[in-house]
Amino acid sequence: MERTFIMIKPDGVQRGLIGEVIARFERKGFTLVGMKLMAVSRELAEKHYDVHKDKPFFGGLVEFITSSPVVAMVWEGENVVASGRTLIGATNPISSAPGTIRGDFGITIGRNLIHGSDAVETAQREIALWFTEPELASWTPANHGWLYED
Ligand code: UDP
Repeated sequence: MERTFIMIKPDGVQRGLIGEVIARFERKGFTLVGMKLMAVSRELAEKHYDVHKDKPFFGGLVEFITSSPVVAMVWEGENVVASGRTLIGATNPISSAPGTIRGDFGITIGRNLIHGSDAVETAQREIALWFTEPELASWTPANHGWLYED
């Protein structure tokens, strides 16, 4: 089973959208295997967004992510990385479709509510960065047979 790293950013937490985001992943059928509300250190934020370190928005992004708590989560399911990105919507809320999290709740790219890993290898790196192994629970939901054919 594939896993992805999902983070509700400070704006999503401050706007009371934690339950809304979790509900969307749950209703889709994905399984929550790890979750914590936490303050993010500058070091962790810089590591997480390392790929963007030379971009003009990097400083502001790190400031934002460390400004207020986030909810870090790991979700599991078939194709959860790509499917999670579909649930989240395009990076810029101008282009995110209605029905997606960013499309329904976001207005600007710098306050787009949520992060989701963009590839399976990125997900593995991000999960290892944000969670320790004992913080992740491997379990099979009772409805598994109603979500998958095998
Ligand atoms: N971002 C920003 N300004 C930009 C581009 C990106 O503030 O011009 C932020 C935004 O929060 C985005 C994050 O940087 O979610 C990471 O950018 P990426 O292109 O990786 O988008 P994502 O994978 O989050 O959709």
